[in-house]
Parts: sequence; structure tokens; C-alpha cells
Amino acid sequence: MKKTGMTTLEVRKYNKSKVYELIYERHSISKQEISNILQMSLTTVTHNLKLLETEEMITITGQYESTGGRKPNIYSIVTTAGIAIGIAVLKNCVHFVAIDLYGEILQKDTRPLLFSAEDSYYQKLGAETTQFIDELGSRYKDKILGVGIAIQGLVSADGQTMSDGAIMNCTGMKLSELSAYIPYTCRLEHDSTATAAMELWCDKSLKDAVIYILNHNLGGAVIIDGKIHYGQNMRSGSMEHMCMDTSGPQCYCGRKGCLETFCSADSLEKAAGMDLDTYFKKLRQGDEFCREVWLLWLTNLSKAIGNINVVIDCDIVLSGYLAPYLIEDDIRLLKELVDTYATYPLNNDQIRTNHYGALAPASGAALPYIKKFLEEI
Ligand SMILES: [Zn+2]
Repeated sequence: MKKTGMTTLEVRKYNKSKVYELIYERHSISKQEISNILQMSLTTVTHNLKLLETEEMITITGQYESTGGRKPNIYSIVTTAGIAIGIAVLKNCVHFVAIDLYGEILQKDTRPLLFSAEDSYYQKLGAETTQFIDELGSRYKDKILGVGIAIQGLVSADGQTMSDGAIMNCTGMKLSELSAYIPYTCRLEHDSTATAAMELWCDKSLKDAVIYILNHNLGGAVIIDGKIHYGQNMRSGSMEHMCMDTSGPQCYCGRKGCLETFCSADSLEKAAGMDLDTYFKKLRQGDEFCREVWLLWLTNLSKAIGNINVVIDCDIVLSGYLAPYLIEDDIRLLKELVDTYATYPLNNDQIRTNHYGALAPASGAALPYIKKFLEEI
């Protein structure tokens, strides 16, 4: 017999989800507003609020001013009803974050840990992760949804193996090995796509974009129609290996003159001959040498932007470690340079920056657990 419509059970679940979704979207809302917006009777809304409160998914966070009669309660979600852990594995250290249901960072830490694709490292990573989670406090322990691990390098489409780990010397390393001592469900993701996932989460207006991830090692990601474009071999957005000059500096991939060697944060640090905090302080104070280094670095970036823009003409997002250092004058100059070197000038608002900085990959790798949790309510 053909089934039509929803069963009573499905309708109840649907109503509960709608109420929760609305509270989540609005952050704080009254019962009457929920009833008005969802066109749901106050009795049904009250029933679902009670259910969600019992499940510790929502809570009363205060009262609105009275418009006559009792003050209406303010309902909000319990942001820590589910927590995801994000880890960014780097050569010399590990970034840890714990994010709540809004993707906000509850706790963060960076710990020195020299990477090597061997069991002794996996054991240390497991111990550090367990310690980080312990520091969250016992009340959150049973709220952990999973651990997302971001890593520099390409991850196979099934998320189980490093298909290109040249930068970390870990090609072929398996998620099962890396996460062997982490007592939670884990996932593995290329740090560039994890960063792009964070961009999409924080900026819902992002439809088509190329993301330039200006980390110590350069990365990139392509977003088409609001989704990350992975490509046939998970290589879309790997702009770091776009050749700028075949006789240029040696890249870790084995070739010469890749964009990595001109526009990564490491390349800037190398050209400046000083740490980047010092460099940017001196640059902003008008130091002539720092200015020359900056102009050359921006010129190389402008050429890359011009090249990529003739393939995919869309928003240009500057993200990653260097993004918080960038000021409006830099973006203005970068646009002028693109307009000078590229075939087509950019629109005035085509380049934008964000300020999530170095923790975006770790947070982005944790996000899928949050999304899944919210989808299943
Ligand atoms: Zn390269």
C-alpha cells in the first residue's frame, strides 16, 4: 500500500525539530514568538519546549520585559549539549580546540609535539588529546561527539589514508594509525578543506569563492555553489603548487618555483629574516626594507590571484595565519597590483579577509560532528 503523509510519530519529531531549529537560529526567543513564527499552537509549542528541556537541549536563560501579565521566558539552546574536538597536526606542534553547537571555541591549546608518522607519535598524540579533553571538565566528557583531525596534505576520498603527505612525510599513513590512541570516533581532513568548511560555516553568504589560506605552508580551497569542490583526485584548490617560475626556489613537492615558495607565511618570514610579529610591527612603523619585502610578496600574490581569476571569477577570501595581520591598505594595494598585472580588473569588494587565524583548520575539522548532531535532532 502506498504510504502518504507523515505518521503521528514523524509529525511529533518534525515539530520538535522545527522548534529546536528556530531557537538555534534566533539564539533567544519566547514561547509566543515560536508559536507565531511556526504557526504552531501554544499547547504544541509548550509540549515541545518541555521535551527539549527534559533532554537538556534547551534552557531558560532569563525573562523578557513584561507587556502586561507574567514576564515571558527566554529560551536558548544548551550550546554544550554536544561538543566536538578539533586537532590540527603540524610539523612541530598540535592545535587543539573544543567547539560548541554554534562552532564557537570553548577551549583551545597549542602544544609542542614533533610529528613523525610512527607509533611513538600516535601514542603521544593520544595522551595529549586525552589530557586536553580532561581539562574540559567531567561534565562535558559524555558530550564529546568526535574528534576531527586536520593535517597538511591530501586525504583520500574515503578519509582513511594520506594520499599525498609530502609536506609531513606521511604519505600512506592511515587514520586508524594516527587515531589509534584517541578514545573517540575520529575523522581526518586536509587542513585546507577544513579551513574552507569553517569559512562556509561562518559566512553563509559565501556561494562561489577561492580561499587563499596564508598559513606557514600555503593552502587553498575552491567553493562552488556553497560547497567545497574537491575534484576528481581531491586536489582542487591546491594552489600552493601552481608554478610561478620554473627556475624559482625549491618547493617541498620536489619542483621549483611553486606559489608556496613565494606566498606562504614561511616564504615571507624567510625573505624578511625575522619572525612575523616583529616583521609586521616594523612594516607598520614604515621600515623601508620591510616595505620592499611586502611589496614583492603582495605582487607575487596578485599574479596568482590574476591567474586563478581567469579560470574561476568569484570572491577571493584571504584566510589562515597571515589574515589577522592584513589591514585595509594591504587589500587596497593588492587589488591595485592585480589590476596592474592581470588581464581583468577585480570588483572593489571582490577581495575579503577573515580573522579566524591559525585555529580555523582544527575548528573546521570538528564541524562535521556538530552538523551531524544538529541534523539528527
Ligand atoms: Zn610545490
